[in-house]
Amino acid sequence: MSNQPGIFANAVNLKVGSAAEASAASEDARTTSADDAVHDVVIVGSGPAGYTAAIYTARANLNPVVLAGSVTAGGELMNTTDVENYPGFIDGIMGPDLMNNMQQQAERFGADIRYEDVVSAELDGEIKTVTVEDGTVLCARAVIISTGSEYRKLGLEDEERLSGHGVSWCATCDGFFFKKQNIAVVGGGDSAIEEATFLTKFADKVTLIHRRDRFRASEIMQQRAFDDPKIEILWNTKVTGIQGADKVESLALEDTVTGETSELAVTGLFVAIGSDPRVGLVKDQLELTVDNTIAVDGRSSTTSLAGVFAAGDVVDATYRQAITAAGSGCVAAVDVEHYLAALDS
Ligand SMILES: Cc1cc2nc3c(=O)[nH]c(=O)nc-3n(C[C@H](O)[C@H](O)[C@H](O)COP(=O)(O)OP(=O)(O)OC[C@H]3O[C@@H](n4cnc5c(N)ncnc54)[C@H](O)[C@@H]3O)c2cc1C
Repeated sequence: MSNQPGIFANAVNLKVGSAAEASAASEDARTTSADDAVHDVVIVGSGPAGYTAAIYTARANLNPVVLAGSVTAGGELMNTTDVENYPGFIDGIMGPDLMNNMQQQAERFGADIRYEDVVSAELDGEIKTVTVEDGTVLCARAVIISTGSEYRKLGLEDEERLSGHGVSWCATCDGFFFKKQNIAVVGGGDSAIEEATFLTKFADKVTLIHRRDRFRASEIMQQRAFDDPKIEILWNTKVTGIQGADKVESLALEDTVTGETSELAVTGLFVAIGSDPRVGLVKDQLELTVDNTIAVDGRSSTTSLAGVFAAGDVVDATYRQAITAAGSGCVAAVDVEHYLAALDS
């Protein structure tokens, strides 16, 4: 994450316009909003970051509206099974159950959760507008962007079906489930090698599959893989199929040079070919980092625009865990509270 000191001096030391200007802007906004209100805060996204921000802002009487997404509400954890590393659940919890709990907890304090996709946002100025798919425009004094990040997929037919049943995108999350097993990692960058090396703590053997004849990873990372007796590297190889009825049993492979096909018996496949922060809505308005995450000022959620805050995986190129996303959502909620209090004082 690039935390360039001072780049958001304007946003942090925000200057608000006169009360008359703010009120005029609010009036304008009111007339254009089918929602017919200027909300204190609108939260885009309903993963751990968005729901945590909703819980905190609701408990601070800021009446948050959460635009949760139509088919992706609940975020990435809706696509997984056991979550064993989220604190507070001794025996773990299923991903969808954890997200349903967060949703209900936010609603208990009055969060207004709407299962709609945001199609555009105007984030400049004191009153921000957010438009959802049916054309409804919501106006808000503060916006929290918590749209997450999407792991790149291989695009194979059975990849989604076996997600959480052997196919994973996160060694930190799922490595523990593969004790004494033979598994594979696909990718050739630093993160693929880091995942493969980490997975050797659990697995008996990790096959690192790369479609080219050399890695993109740094020399030091490559050496780590070459030196690890539990890692076997398959060069010039791509995965063309994932097989298994209820869980991963084997991979179909193809040699990218000769076209020769083969099968590899594994019980797990970690896809480590990168991820894309979901910044489509804001990329032309907010400053981004070199990793394409939304740039925030230090440990805060303050973005390059006053009144716009960002939290969760969309600001995080490194940790990307449910607990870090939730913590980041809390930070955003507290930042919003302080921002609105400063506007009102
Ligand atoms: C398969 C899998 C298993 C995982 N397992 C674990 C685990 O065991 N433990 C762990 O700690 N972490 C795990 N993770 C990582 C964890 O899921 C993420 O770090 C976490 O979900 C990030 O939270 P977030 O709120 O930032 O984003 P997300 O959970 O990605 O949520 C993003 C939200 O934004 C919404 N959104 C996006 N665009 C729009 C739009 N235009 N309009 C409205 N809404 C929008 C989506 O609907 C979604 O609600 C796993 C990830 C995956 C993919």
